[in-house]
Amino acid sequence: MIRILPVGGAGEIGASCFHIDFHGTGIILDAGMHPRKKGIESLPNFGLMKDLPLDAVLISHAHEDHIGSLPYLIQRFPYLRVVTTPQTRAIAELTLHNSVSILQDELKEDDPLKPYTHDEIDLLIQSIEYRSYEEQFIVSGYENRNNADVNVSFWDAGHVLGSAGILLEHHERTLFYTGDVKMRNQSVTCAARIPQRHIDTVLLECTQGAAEPSTFPEWEREAQRFAQRSNEIIEQGGSILIPVFALGKMQEMLATIWELMEKGVLAKTDIYTGGIARKICTVYDRNRYVVRRMNKEFEFANVEQSDFFEIENLQELFRRPSIILATSGMMIEGTMSFRLAQRWLAQKQSAIFTVGYMDPSTPGHRIATAQQGEEIRLTDFSEPQEVRCSIERFHFTAHSMRDGLMEIVRRTTPNRVILVHGDPEAIDWMGHSILKNFPGTKVHAAEIGRTIEF
Ligand SMILES: [Zn+2]
Repeated sequence: MIRILPVGGAGEIGASCFHIDFHGTGIILDAGMHPRKKGIESLPNFGLMKDLPLDAVLISHAHEDHIGSLPYLIQRFPYLRVVTTPQTRAIAELTLHNSVSILQDELKEDDPLKPYTHDEIDLLIQSIEYRSYEEQFIVSGYENRNNADVNVSFWDAGHVLGSAGILLEHHERTLFYTGDVKMRNQSVTCAARIPQRHIDTVLLECTQGAAEPSTFPEWEREAQRFAQRSNEIIEQGGSILIPVFALGKMQEMLATIWELMEKGVLAKTDIYTGGIARKICTVYDRNRYVVRRMNKEFEFANVEQSDFFEIENLQELFRRPSIILATSGMMIEGTMSFRLAQRWLAQKQSAIFTVGYMDPSTPGHRIATAQQGEEIRLTDFSEPQEVRCSIERFHFTAHSMRDGLMEIVRRTTPNRVILVHGDPEAIDWMGHSILKNFPGTKVHAAEIGRTIEF
């Protein structure tokens, strides 16, 4: 008997967490934190698992919505075994330590959630086991209930460094969790590897399930358009602000910009980066011969860049044309990209280029959808501000589009697909499309607290 219980991040892109009872062995897939909620609201509903078998938690990658609540999960269930890839473990050490001070600032005193400490993170990281891609290992149930040893392997998901799809096998029964997956090459990261075999059950992410592939040009074509627009801004003496996620989007964009400059397509311009994103670049560099990589010789350490945390007056960024890569990717209030955006909006010659998904509730979305000359509020409570700078939207996605997601279903011929990590429209489209193209396949839309049993 296999039971799947969505604990978080089912019908939305939120705090991903799924409990799998695999013939008596309890495996948790991911322990995410909701990126736009605060306090206890941002955690998966761990209470749903209190009477279930709990043996191991497997982490697909180090984005906050997949790993952010791991310290709280381990506080609650300290005996859980934690396993991920070596790269995700290395990145998690940076990002979880980084979250300590963010949580201290964010959590209100009366919130039942308390910030964790640097000591707790040190202990947690030391206890995380790591396995390379496609290396089999076993997760056994407590006292080996029902003899249910589950064979586990991680599959390169092509999303960010260290990202993995997770394959669970017990005799003939198989389950594959895609995590976040990209079926095409990016600038640094190679396309995902998917097990080429029949799999009973696939938990499929649907982030870009609602987007028409035609609205997402190939990476290279989009890079050309990016270079062209950047050159126009640079020529008129402006600076370009690009909000990025510290893990993934930052590295892919920096490598894309470097390549365009090397080829002479993009004017050589000062590049500014900073903070945790720079540290993550060193993890990318150290792993360049260990994992699949588009260009193993490329090193972020060789890309000339200045640190915006080291300049005294941010106005310096406008003194001569420059490109600034700042987090957060959705310009969440209080972050560097949010603070910079407030200055950017007033600069007629300059531009904000958005390069990825923006949740409709975020300041990033308000900026991405604004027109030059109109007045916008970055948050519900901020003063209206005129948009004087140029705004341009580019599509460099780290997720599979519809065709890539359908390709996963075609390759794994599953009996059952469980749709996760997408808004209702995306899940709807994917569900209909799978039923139409693969008749006989059962499709479930995951719902928090609702067990799927077979
Ligand atoms: Zn992700």
